[in-house]
Amino acid sequence: MAVAEPARVRVVIAALLAALLGAVSVVSGAPVAEAGTEPEPLAGRTIVLDAGHQLGNANFPAQINRPVPAGGFTKPCNTTGTATNGGYPEATFNFAVASALRDRLTDAGATVVMVRKTNRADLWGPCIDVRGRAGNAIDADLKISIHADGSYVAGARGFHVIAPVSRAGWTADIAEDSRQLALDVRAGLESAGLPRANYIAGGDGLDFRSDLGTLNLSDVPTVMVEAGNMRNADEAGRMSTASGRSVYVNGLLRGVLRYLD
Ligand code: ZN
Repeated sequence: MAVAEPARVRVVIAALLAALLGAVSVVSGAPVAEAGTEPEPLAGRTIVLDAGHQLGNANFPAQINRPVPAGGFTKPCNTTGTATNGGYPEATFNFAVASALRDRLTDAGATVVMVRKTNRADLWGPCIDVRGRAGNAIDADLKISIHADGSYVAGARGFHVIAPVSRAGWTADIAEDSRQLALDVRAGLESAGLPRANYIAGGDGLDFRSDLGTLNLSDVPTVMVEAGNMRNADEAGRMSTASGRSVYVNGLLRGVLRYLD
């Protein structure tokens, strides 16, 4: 039909144009980042984030007081955690920071495993032995446990990072790397503007302990971060808002990037 001819011509022209444009984009050659894509400095890395406690732990005393393996001795499965004077729970802070950090790490290309996947008043745990071993079977690059402290010492404030001491048969294989991770996380938190603790850990923001199952049972480099003192009014204010928590998230992200660089 007569009217079909112009239509067919338009189709042919469109196909030629498409081929030409395709050819041009191939000829342009050099890889160009597509709009919206970011570099992925953590591609291929696996990171375990352990948000301390569980919101409902206080509702399950029998379960959380049950002794579990902690690295050559037993300790209670878990504890309730602390809170701000305004009632903002540590478990909720830990989970919020871990979740935001997970998103940032994922954006940077990492595979992130959350030990605790919920923050609910009707749940408890997991126990410290589960938290301690969480990175082992997947051979994670590192594991960070996120906590906040609750000190009533007047003026007590600031963060400290806890790494395992070297114990034969338990942590001798991860002590040195964990110490380096602690140094890098401390540097990251400081670069975000957070102060070293002035009431614990000797003032250098670093502590080395043998009594924490969450660290003792790890076969991958690990630290526990006490992000600040929830009983300090200034720090409680920072911890209780999303914008304040982003300071902790930024500091932890910088620490991880520094360690895995
Ligand atoms: Zn805690």
